[in-house]
Amino acid sequence: MSSFVVALDVGGTSMKGGLVGESGAVLLSERRPTPHAEGPEAVVTAISDFIDHLAAAGDGTPAGVGLAVPGLVTEDSAVYATNLGWRDVPAAAFTSLDIPVLLGHDVRTGGLAESVLGAGRGLDDFLFLPIGTGIAGASIIRGEPYGGSSGWAGEIGHTPVFPDGEQCACGQLGCLETYASAASVGRRYSQRAGVEGVKAEQVVSSDDPIAIEIWDEAVEALSLALATYTLLLDPSVIVLGGGLAQAGPALFDPVRTRLVKRLAFRDAPPLVPAALGVDAGMFGAALLGWRAAGRPELGPGWAVDVRSGPLVS
Ligand SMILES: [Zn+2]
Repeated sequence: MSSFVVALDVGGTSMKGGLVGESGAVLLSERRPTPHAEGPEAVVTAISDFIDHLAAAGDGTPAGVGLAVPGLVTEDSAVYATNLGWRDVPAAAFTSLDIPVLLGHDVRTGGLAESVLGAGRGLDDFLFLPIGTGIAGASIIRGEPYGGSSGWAGEIGHTPVFPDGEQCACGQLGCLETYASAASVGRRYSQRAGVEGVKAEQVVSSDDPIAIEIWDEAVEALSLALATYTLLLDPSVIVLGGGLAQAGPALFDPVRTRLVKRLAFRDAPPLVPAALGVDAGMFGAALLGWRAAGRPELGPGWAVDVRSGPLVS
């Protein structure tokens, strides 16, 4: 009987794959580029080749495959992803192997991992919000990431925070992501200060009045969105991850203060950092792989070895 699954986390620029055993041990971990510029079919082929390669490195046949992909996703179909260009790719198309495959949305899969193995361990209801190049969340409701009626749940980055605010790439105005993603913080500073190529971490740590203004707007946007989320879904905790969470107290302290101020009649949920870092997607994919293999009980007892280091934003 197979004692490992293939876990693959597909990002817009790179894919992280591994073999994960029944005990949660990572038997192998590798990274490959995502050939997004070569079109949707090339990406699907690259995923299939990577799965074949990982599977061949294991001892025997994998019990299942868990695959985390961006965009609009259901358990058996990658419906739509703007940056990868695909539409309605069935789960089985991602591998030539005759083994069960389960697909997951990238952020919700990371949220699943934080829920079972990380900062949300033991919590039934919380928000996992990675803040990187973009912002999307995973609502963990009654112990499971919630996908909504059609798979679009969690797009907190595109909730409007400033009416008639700046144009977002999505077509709407005043989206959270336009003000508070790592990419937006860097871009907005660069535009306002007339300096090119400034990164979010430089803005966060700067005493420059323009940097303070840009960071203040990002914090304001985040606290507005988190107040709305809290009032709507009453999370026990808000788990912040992604590249911008590396800012630590410079992010957590002001957002916490404003969130508390905005909530008049109820307590604010604690804001805590994500625990799994860049490995969240791959561990979540491993949990999906074991579910595909008919072993959903695996996961909660794992003591995962989380490597520290800068998060990919
Ligand atoms: Zn938007």
